[in-house]
Amino acid sequence: KRVLVTGANGYIALWVVKILLEQGYRVRGAVRSEEKGKKLLDTFKSYGSEQLEYAVVKDITQDGAFDEAVRDMDAIAHTASPLSAVSEDPDELIQPALRGTLGVLNSALKNGPNIKRIVITSSCAALLHNVTAPTEVFDENNWADEAIGIVKEQGRKALFMEKYRTSKALAERAAWDFTEKHKSEIGWDLVTIQPPFVIGPPLQEVKAPSELNVSLDTFFKNMCTERPEDVLKGSYGYVHVEDVAKAHVDSLKTEAAGGQRLIISSGATTWQNTRNLLKELYPKLYAAGALPIGYPQLPEVILWRYDAAKSERILGIKYKTIKEIAKDTMDDFIARGWIK
Ligand code: NDP
Repeated sequence: KRVLVTGANGYIALWVVKILLEQGYRVRGAVRSEEKGKKLLDTFKSYGSEQLEYAVVKDITQDGAFDEAVRDMDAIAHTASPLSAVSEDPDELIQPALRGTLGVLNSALKNGPNIKRIVITSSCAALLHNVTAPTEVFDENNWADEAIGIVKEQGRKALFMEKYRTSKALAERAAWDFTEKHKSEIGWDLVTIQPPFVIGPPLQEVKAPSELNVSLDTFFKNMCTERPEDVLKGSYGYVHVEDVAKAHVDSLKTEAAGGQRLIISSGATTWQNTRNLLKELYPKLYAAGALPIGYPQLPEVILWRYDAAKSERILGIKYKTIKEIAKDTMDDFIARGWIK
């Protein structure tokens, strides 16, 4: 079976590619430049050109951008989407997310007669709204309409998070609408993967912490550098990058996943709790002052909780715990010589 992975050089996508290759799939990775394509091949150099190739898609917002990349594919995992912006313009996030997603689907409609399933990396961001008290558990029925309204009203002045949530929600909704609208012409069904905060060792080349992708960069800063109390008392939903990647691959081959939004989440905690856990795992590093403990007595208030029962049921995932996730990630940082 042949799978197109878009944004194949990204943090999550490289794990998706790894698992696909390990399971014998043939992979075409769509990346933005030749250089990134060559790096992708180099990352997986033990696999031959029969199993892994790349396609350069310079600008995913152009009409027909994926027309060639989708040819001969049986399935697609669409992960490419912006997680950061250089200006305040919300369209910098929204347009690539939305047009990229619709572009992939349009190209699949045109040139992908054998495509049976399309898995899109959406996010818990696409279903979140702001909460001030720990009373709500989010599930697959939620949509980030609140963020869409805020961005509509406030435009450039909206918080980055609201713009990001809007980009993910609009792109995902457009994908569901497209699939519904064209259901008599297409041979695929859709799955959307909704992870919260993704952590775990990076497979991409990272020479310094400043080069980490957004979620690992936040994890590094919140665990390994001095942070104010109000940051450390913040809560987050977490999941291991390997579980997220497995969920993509399992969603490609699990019949019952078709047509489903799937929350892929292990649990939720606070940043300070995660530090307290790391102190138990690495007592010597804390005793030596290599890692800052912060405020160990901070009360635990967890605002973001996600119900992952559906993905556990449909995909049979057994999620790695926060202890395993934090340890895997910190072991990687230590091996890179970043904790001294
Ligand atoms: P990375 O930044 O590592 O990867 C993002 C990928 O998307 C890269 O391949 C990047 O290409 C590509 N991309 C970004 N912006 C554009 C653009 N404007 N045009 C074309 N391609 C673009 O991030 P992650 O692996 O973390 O994210 C992958 C997906 O997972 C995204 O859809 C994200 O929304 C989603 N997600 C991530 C979470 C997390 O905690 N990390 C949580 C929930 C969802 P290039 O390298 O060329 O910039």
